[in-house]
Amino acid sequence: MQISKFGAQPRVKSRVDDCEVHGPFDRKLVEAFDGENRVFGCPNCLWESVNTAPTDSEDHVKAVELKRWESLNDQLFATGVAQRFRRCSLENYIATEAGQIQALKTCRAYVDQFEECMDAGRCLLMLGNFGNGKTHLGCSILKAVVTRYGYRALYAPAPDIIAALKASFAKGSTDTEQAILDDLCAVDLLLIDELGAQSGTEFERHSLHTIIDKRYRAMLPTIITSNLPSSELADYIGDRALDRLRENGGEAIAFTWASHRGGEA
Ligand SMILES: [Zn+2]
Repeated sequence: MQISKFGAQPRVKSRVDDCEVHGPFDRKLVEAFDGENRVFGCPNCLWESVNTAPTDSEDHVKAVELKRWESLNDQLFATGVAQRFRRCSLENYIATEAGQIQALKTCRAYVDQFEECMDAGRCLLMLGNFGNGKTHLGCSILKAVVTRYGYRALYAPAPDIIAALKASFAKGSTDTEQAILDDLCAVDLLLIDELGAQSGTEFERHSLHTIIDKRYRAMLPTIITSNLPSSELADYIGDRALDRLRENGGEAIAFTWASHRGGEA
């Protein structure tokens, strides 16, 4: 599986073990994205359980389930969602105020209609105060889209994108600006988090505009979270980029209620 520069892989601990049938192998403990870590025993036994054991046997059913878990776990890590947000889901988002309930409803609809959003390249904007769950909802959408539909999704905070682009200009860098832009446009759904959190130099604005524009032309959906209100966002990324994000039914959720969760974004 192709993994973005902004993606991740599970940590794996391994130790040498011995299979009665197949001899020495590496027993692996694989880090779970958001649940319990899983143990992988002899790979030859696993292969046999998947491919040659009777399909109604317990071994086969367990082995197939383990392989599916591994594949989904890899895809979830590949989103690059930071550890802090891995357990976030639409189900555990606490919505008590009217604005929160509406925000959750809009996010659920975005996931439920994601095939359509994908076809139309429909974006989603989450704008407003820090500390009211924008990142929680954004990461929940990424996870749901990966889990339910098998699409490739990626979480990339704007400051990390800018840092990576700047680092690519350093002498001896193995990355190029173009490779980073291509990487961000290779995924089906991109979440650019914390847009506008920085001062907004001409370079930053131009880079973010370029990414939005490139994905727009490829008809790929992008989710943006920003603490800037809509009017200031237009100044930040330009009217044209904002228009593109709003095209084809791209909604903007205004997070206007007060923060109630300390440092969480
Ligand atoms: Zn074995």
